[in-house]
Order: sequence, then C-alpha cells, then structure tokens
Amino acid sequence: MFELSDEQRLLRDTVREFARAEVAPVAEELDREKRFPYEIVAKMGELGLMGIPFPQEYGGGGADTLSYALAVEELARVDSSVCITMAAHTSLGTMPIHLWGSDEQRSEWLPRLCRGERLAAFGLTEPEAGSDAGNTRTRATLADGEWTIDGAKQFITNPGTDISGCVSITAVTGESDGRKEISNLIVANGTPGYEVGEPYRKMGWNASDTRPLAFEGCRVPEGNLLGRRGEGFKNFLHILDGGRIGVAAMGVGLAQGALDEAIAYAKERRAFGQPISKFQAIQAKIADLSAQIEAARLLTWRAAVEKDRGESFTLTAAQAKLITGRLAVRATEEAVQIHGGYGYIEEYPVCRFYRDAKILTIGEGTDEVQQMVIARSLGC
Ligand SMILES: Cc1cc2nc3c(=O)[nH]c(=O)nc-3n(C[C@H](O)[C@H](O)[C@H](O)COP(=O)(O)OP(=O)(O)OC[C@H]3O[C@@H](n4cnc5c(N)ncnc54)[C@H](O)[C@@H]3O)c2cc1C
Repeated sequence: MFELSDEQRLLRDTVREFARAEVAPVAEELDREKRFPYEIVAKMGELGLMGIPFPQEYGGGGADTLSYALAVEELARVDSSVCITMAAHTSLGTMPIHLWGSDEQRSEWLPRLCRGERLAAFGLTEPEAGSDAGNTRTRATLADGEWTIDGAKQFITNPGTDISGCVSITAVTGESDGRKEISNLIVANGTPGYEVGEPYRKMGWNASDTRPLAFEGCRVPEGNLLGRRGEGFKNFLHILDGGRIGVAAMGVGLAQGALDEAIAYAKERRAFGQPISKFQAIQAKIADLSAQIEAARLLTWRAAVEKDRGESFTLTAAQAKLITGRLAVRATEEAVQIHGGYGYIEEYPVCRFYRDAKILTIGEGTDEVQQMVIARSLGC
C-alpha cells in the first residue's frame, strides 16, 4: 500500500535537501528574532512547494495528498514555523478556492498563490467560536451587489505579512429553518474595513504569522461568495478534515526531527566514560520513539491515501492528528531530556522543537475535538 512512487521519492528528497541546506541554517535566528521567513517562502515558491496539490493549469504541482504530506514532514523535521506557513497556506488558505472557487476566482487567485507570491489565510476561529466553530458571530449582509461584513476572527495564520493576499472566512449570511445560514467569502488584503491586528506573542511557531482580524463595515463584491450560499460551515469542516492530514504529517516530522537530534547528541555526549547512547535508559527512549514514529507515519500516510482514493478519510485523519500531536509533544520532551542541560538552551534545536510541539494538540481541532470526531465515526 505504501510503496512510494518515483515522483513522491523525488519530491521528498528535494524538500529534505532544501530544508537541510536553506532552512536549518537560519531556523534558530528566525525563531529568536520572530522574523517571518520571506526569503524562504520565495524559494519554496520557485521550487513549487507553495502549490503542491493544485492543478498544473493554475501553476500548481498537480500532486497527490501523500506527496503533500511527505513535503510537510520534511519541513517540520527542521522548522515548524516555515512548515506551518506553507501548510496553512496550502491546505487551509488555498484549498477552499481550489475546491469551491468559480473559474474567475480560481484564475484570479490560484496562480499567484501557487507561486508563493501571495499567501492565503483561513478565517474560521472567532472569540466565541473555537472548538464550537459553528457559533460564528461574524455577519455578512447582501445589498446592492455587495456583501457588508462585520465581526472578528482570532488566531489566524498568514494574514498580516507583506505578501498576504486574502483570507477566506465563514460568516452568517441569514437564517433558514431557524438555523444560522453560514457561507464563505473571500476578502482581499487592503479591502477597506478589513483590519489585520498585531501579531500574537506565542509559545512557539515564532517565525510564523498569527493575528486577530476585524471586519467593520467591510464591503466586498457579491462575486466574492465562495461556494454555494449556506454551505460555508460544511465546506470548512471538509477543509479541516483534509488539513488534519497535513498537521499529522507535521507531528511526524517534528517527532522525527527531535529523534534525529537526540540520537546525534547521544552518540557525541559522554558520561561515566562512554557515550550516553550506550546506556540502556537512553536506548529505550530512542527505541520507543522510533517505533511510535514509524506507526504514526503509516497512519498518516493511510489517511492521505484514503483521501487520494476518494474514500472516507475523516476517521483516519482524526486518529492520525490525535496520536501525532501527542507523539510530537512526547518526542520533543524526551529529546530535551536526552540533551540534559543543553536541551534547555536555545542554541540546540530541540529547545525550539519542544516549544513548537504543543500547538499540535490544539490547532486544527484540539485533542478533545479529535476524540469527539473519532467516537462519532465509531457510532457513539
Ligand atoms: C498558533 C495558532 C494558529 C492558528 N491558526 C488558525 C487559522 O489559521 N485559522 C483558524 O480558523 N484558526 C486557527 N487557530 C485556532 C485554533 O484552531 C483554535 O485555537 C482551536 O480550534 C481551539 O479553539 P479555542 O482556542 O477557541 O479553544 P476552546 O474551543 O475554547 O477550547 C478550550 C478547551 O475546551 C475544550 N473543549 C471545548 N469544547 C469541548 C467539548 N465539546 N468537549 C470536550 N472538550 C471541549 C477544548 O478541547 C480545549 O481543551 C490557530 C490557533 C493558534 C494558537
């Protein structure tokens, strides 16, 4: 089932080399300076990494979900900030335009987004609507051929950089049968009434862009409706399902990166007259992590393959997201432990990895939400 094709291997090896040569040398500095990686995003655009799963006619790579997951894993192995910038842009920001955009919307946005000249953001979360994502308060009213949007979003990735192009949001556009009618709208950066707030001060993902958004009398053309009116919540839940495969691949990559660093350090560091890699206690940690990472990788690949085959993948993607997030937290903690005091010092990548891991149990649906999705899929 999981024999990689020549194209998939080539993509994985290309991203692995790119991450080693171009990202790893600057990752610590970008994190320390909380600096958005413009140069790296531009290079990823040139390499075709900003539009991997989108059609070639729009400048995308035309590749499958497994290829995308392989690329995400290789980036996360080295730098989670760069990785989430690419992953949020691809599977959250650009995917709704690819899946539900009109020909005009696709022609307007996809080429620039696939080239990485512009970044796309996904605006679902609100102050009153996180796990309870259907509790959207943002409203959009249609009059005289324009939608007027009022409301707020929070914790949104990629909206406030110099190259941020647009955000796709959920907004309440009416009521039918006593229920909120939720639709999706595209809002371009620079639209009057669309304000991007100051970046959050975060625990990790320091070189990525995360901000609150405000809409006050923000007017966009009627044609900015994305997909069918009233299908916005259902469509965004579908986007989250697919996005979970990417986040699971991030968990695998981060855990693998932590293990790589831990093994290298354990072979170098000596105590009691020998490398610490010779101690059984250290070997047990390394062995357990390597087995768990391999299992998590296979589950993540399975979710990707199910999606590519057009099968239902909601259950597998939630299972993969749940176990990989927890694994990333555990693996980075063990990697810090194996580094001893140096693990607590920022010059060592495992220190950053540890801070970057925790969000993987929260973003794109918390662990508790994944448990709900899994239990529901099992008939509970
Ligand atoms: C760095 C970062 C980047 C992000 N990027 C984006 C983005 O690009 N776009 C976007 O739309 N969002 C984004 N988010 C938001 C993220 O998806 C939400 O933070 C997440 O879904 C949780 O929502 P919340 O923060 O409102 O927590 P809450 O929903 O308030 O949850 C608080 C706690 O209650 C638990 N809980 C809630 N409901 C239940 C329940 N029914 N049963 C059991 N437990 C429950 C949760 O699991 C959690 O432990 C980002 C967040 C961060 C921190």
